[in-house]
Amino acid sequence: MVRILVLIGIIAVVVFIANKIFTSSRLCKNCNGTGYWKGLRGERNLCKKCQGTGRLT
Ligand SMILES: [Zn+2]
Repeated sequence: MVRILVLIGIIAVVVFIANKIFTSSRLCKNCNGTGYWKGLRGERNLCKKCQGTGRLT
C-alpha cells in the first residue's frame, strides 16, 4: 500500500514538472509572461506579441 502511494507521488511530481516545462516554454518572451512591459515612466504597456495574455498561442 505504501509503495502505491510513493508511486502516485512520483507520477504527480513528474506530471507537475512536465506541465511546468510545457507552460514555461509557451510563455511570451517579449514580456516574460506578464502580458505587459514597463515603459520609461513605469507605465504598463500591453504586449502586442501575446495580446496581454503573457502566453503565446
Ligand atoms: Zn507578451
